Amino acid sequence: MINICLLGATGSIGQSTLDVLRLHPNKFRLKSITANSDIDGLIAQIAEFEPDSAVIADGSLEDELLRRVRQDLPHSKVKISSGQNSLSEVASDKDVHTVIAAIVGAAGLLPTLSAVRASKRILLANKEVLVCAGKLFMSEVKAFGAELLPLDSEHNAIFQCMQQNHLPSGKKGIGQARDIRRILLTASGGPFRGYDRKSLEKVTPEQAFAHPNWDMGKKISVDSATLMNKGLEFIEACWLFDVPPSKIEILVHPQSIIHSLVEYDDGSQLAQLGTPDMKTPIAHTLGFPERMASGAGFLDLTQTPPLTFEKADSETFACLSLAIYAAERGGSYPLFLNAANEVAVQAFIEGKIRFTQIADLVKNTLQFATESEPVSIEEVIELDALARKYCSDSLKEIQECP
Ligand code: NAD
Ligand code: MG
Repeated sequence: MINICLLGATGSIGQSTLDVLRLHPNKFRLKSITANSDIDGLIAQIAEFEPDSAVIADGSLEDELLRRVRQDLPHSKVKISSGQNSLSEVASDKDVHTVIAAIVGAAGLLPTLSAVRASKRILLANKEVLVCAGKLFMSEVKAFGAELLPLDSEHNAIFQCMQQNHLPSGKKGIGQARDIRRILLTASGGPFRGYDRKSLEKVTPEQAFAHPNWDMGKKISVDSATLMNKGLEFIEACWLFDVPPSKIEILVHPQSIIHSLVEYDDGSQLAQLGTPDMKTPIAHTLGFPERMASGAGFLDLTQTPPLTFEKADSETFACLSLAIYAAERGGSYPLFLNAANEVAVQAFIEGKIRFTQIADLVKNTLQFATESEPVSIEEVIELDALARKYCSDSLKEIQECP
């Protein structure tokens, strides 16, 4: 039995992971689950999977969760705890083999790092971790011999298309891309593909949540609509595959059938295809190096619409060019980009700003970034808080003079 810790169990990736685990009850055991504040979600998962531990990140909700467990599940032996330290504890538990990092945003940094330092196999969905602390994170992966497997669909596709699947530590895992000519990172283009700047000004959060191909959490849905998600993935790919920004090209492919491609010097382009369903990369990484059923549908190429490709419109979707700019500058630019984006997306979801102002806020905040690389996680956390403050100040200014 492989013991699993599922960080962000109540989210979209968390629930798709549980769908895959349901298919393989004799292979995996869910040892621990975590959520930010969704008590009902945790109670349902405790009842079904009987994990040893459940963590609620928001400490003010621990008593209520305990009360609900006693009331709804009087025979449960689950250990309840709360707060950041508890997230890191379950992620580094000696009995856990695989940690699924599916928290959204920089909030996942410390627990994921704790899994790295405990040399776990880590299935990484939480791309913001690499955007805000890529260099430090990857050097810890190497130092502790952790096994990092990409769960993000594009990166999982790239991983599958790479020939040398070896981690720097020597364990099997993500590859090194020395012999690669280019990575072609595909993007659906999101719900507003083809819109001009003027029409983007009027779009609502509900329209942004309605992604044409993927069913995801709110933050990543907005990121997909601004194309910031592709920008974050661009930075994620640089770190995961050890390639410079100049080797990555973004290719809009609205059908989301090809999940990305890798081009080699001999002219070969290798692609990974499948239905747009996160259960495929989840099953691929859970079972790696063996293949196992995911529950995702199978592709019938005679029934798929024609596959089309176009260039990304990074002028209209300014978040994408800001992210590529941040990747090229390095230092604290990606960290500032991510922190500002988290603040701005939340403000958009709450109806405080227009869609196009997300990019404005990120751009304003990037002015304060520098090319010097943070040297410790403590510094990353400090700079993240600083960037959020700059962005909140800029948000206030925007709100005062609309
Ligand atoms: P989601 O919003 O549906 O779920 C997020 C999970 O994180 C929830 O369990 C929530 O309780 C938890 N969480 C939120 N804030 C937290 C905090 N401050 N502390 C601790 N836990 C917290 O998000 P999602 O769509 O599942 O995405 C999760 C991550 O996976 C994101 O980084 C996203 O970019 C990435 N990802 C998602 C998809 C997808 O299809 N949904 C695809 C690729 C990558
Ligand atoms: Mg993706």
